Amino acid sequence: MFELAEQGFSSLFEQLIACIISIRTLDEVTLPAARRLFERARTPDEIGRLSVEEVDTLIRESSFHERKAPQIKAIAQRIVDEFEEKLPCDREVLLSFAGVGPKCANLALGIACGEPFISVDIHVHRVANRWGYVSASTPERTLAALEAELPLRYWVEINRLLVPFGKHVCTGNLPRCSACPILEMCEQVGVTAHR
Ligand code: SF4
Repeated sequence: MFELAEQGFSSLFEQLIACIISIRTLDEVTLPAARRLFERARTPDEIGRLSVEEVDTLIRESSFHERKAPQIKAIAQRIVDEFEEKLPCDREVLLSFAGVGPKCANLALGIACGEPFISVDIHVHRVANRWGYVSASTPERTLAALEAELPLRYWVEINRLLVPFGKHVCTGNLPRCSACPILEMCEQVGVTAHR
């Protein structure tokens, strides 16, 4: 999402749609799929004019694309019908769309609206708990714990930093502790084996 924003796809609508495309999907797949869709249509009105089949074809490499395509079209149409094409920076509105959960709502609001929301995916959850910075059993509880502990200025930034860190260094299985730059500061909670 941060990379797409840097490439100019920084509206709240684009960020929200890109996040839906990214769900359960690798970045290497998400980025070209989102770009392909936005090259064809990037406003609620433009996407609302596409058929579900056209949206589905454009995002076909994304996991669960057949479920995401009608959700994306429905979101676009609702924004046209209810909000005169201008999606408001309102968390409750975002969460009212089918297919949008707290992770995507918070990330899109953080990047597109500059609003301080923490987006906790499985990587942020795993890393923050291994550090010992929080102790929470689910991403939802990690979110609440981070909201209590983390200084506000890092609320958006933490996702941009910890998602790639969790994918490439503090991996789910056999984290690369021997090459980790913050080994001395980490409590390695729950780490029983590592590289
Ligand atoms: S030391 Fe290991 S467990 Fe701790 S952050 Fe680094 S890779 Fe993750």
